[in-house]
Amino acid sequence: MAKRKLTKNQQRRIRQIHARHEKRADQDQPAEELLSGGDLGPEQSGVVIARYGSQADVEAPDGQIQRCFLRANLGAVVTGDEVVWRNGDPNGVIIASTERRSALYRPDNRGKMRPVAANIDRIFIVVAPLPEPFANLIDRYLVAAENQHIEAVLVLNKSDLLNTDQGQSTEQLIAPYRELGYPVLTVSAHNESGLRELRSELKDHTSVFVGQSGVGKSSLINALLPDVDTAVGALSEATIKGTHTTTTARLFHLELDGRGNEGRLIDSPGIREFGLWHLTAQEVAEGFVEFRNHLGHCRFRDCTHEAEPDCALLAAVDENKISPARLQSYRNIVQSLDMQ
Ligand code: GDP
Ligand code: ZN
Repeated sequence: MAKRKLTKNQQRRIRQIHARHEKRADQDQPAEELLSGGDLGPEQSGVVIARYGSQADVEAPDGQIQRCFLRANLGAVVTGDEVVWRNGDPNGVIIASTERRSALYRPDNRGKMRPVAANIDRIFIVVAPLPEPFANLIDRYLVAAENQHIEAVLVLNKSDLLNTDQGQSTEQLIAPYRELGYPVLTVSAHNESGLRELRSELKDHTSVFVGQSGVGKSSLINALLPDVDTAVGALSEATIKGTHTTTTARLFHLELDGRGNEGRLIDSPGIREFGLWHLTAQEVAEGFVEFRNHLGHCRFRDCTHEAEPDCALLAAVDENKISPARLQSYRNIVQSLDMQ
C-alpha cells in the first residue's frame, strides 16, 4: 500500500497530541516520585475539597487539609470525591478515588462533558420575586437533580418582597411544585426569616445552591457562612500561588447551630450554572416525576409526546394528571438539547 503523506494539519494535530502527552507525563511524575521515595504516611480516607490543575486539596476525617498530587490514571478527581490518599510534607498523593453517588457536569471548552462536583445529595433551587423566575429553569434543575438521584428543595428567597405583585405571582408559580412533592422553604437573606428551617434542611447533607443570577444565592451563603468564606480564601491563597482560586468548586463546612451539627456546601460559579447537556429525551422525561407512571405507555416507542395518536402523556394532560405547562417545559428542554 502506498505510504500516505500527512497533511500539514494532520502533522500539526499529531505534534499537539505529543505535546499533551508529554505534559501529562510531567504532571504525573511528582506523584510517582513521592510514592517511590517512601516518605509518605499510611493510606487513609479523605474528601477532595478543591481541585487545582494537577493537584487537589484533601481533607482527612480529623479536618486536616493537605495539598496532594494525583496518581496517574486516576480519572477525573473533583470536589466532593471520596479518595484514598497518603500524607506527605509538603505534598501528599491521592492513590484512588471511590465510586461516586452522584455528579454534576459541565461542558469543557471543547464541549466534552466533565464532572465538576461529586457526591452531592441535595440541590437547593433558589427563586425570588425579583428577578422574575421562569418555571422552565426550575424544571431544568429538577430534571438534573432527578437524573442524579439528588433530592431537590425549592427555596423562595426575598420573602420580604412577597406582598408585591411579583411576590404573588412567584408564589403561584411555586405552588404546583409543592403538590408534586418538592419541599418549599420561604426565606429572606435580608431579614433572616426562614434561615432556621434552611439550616435544618442542610444538616447532614452535601448541598449546592443553584438558580438565576440575582436571586440571592451569595447572600444566603454568606448568611450561612459568616466567617468561613474568608478563612478558606486565606488558606487557598497561601498555598496555591493563585491558580484557579476563584473558579474551582470548593467544599465548605457549615456549622449549623454551634453544637457540632454540620452540613457541607459545595460552591463555585460553575456549579451554579451546571446543566443538562448530556441527557437524552427519555432521561429528561424521567426527570419530570409526574410523567413516570405514564412513560412507556404511548403507542409509539419513540413518541415525542407532541401530537402522536395514543400518547400517554397527552392523555394524562387531558385527565389533569400532568399540567400543560410542565409538558411544554419538557418539550422546550428536549428542543434545546437537540440544538446543541
Ligand atoms: P446571586 O446572584 O444569586 O448570588 O444573588 P446575590 O446574593 O448577589 O443578591 C442579588 C441582590 O438581591 C442583591 O442586591 C441582594 O442584596 C439582594 N437580596 C438578596 N437576598 C435578599 C432578600 O432576602 N431580600 C431582598 N429584598 N433582597 C435580597
Ligand atoms: Zn407520548
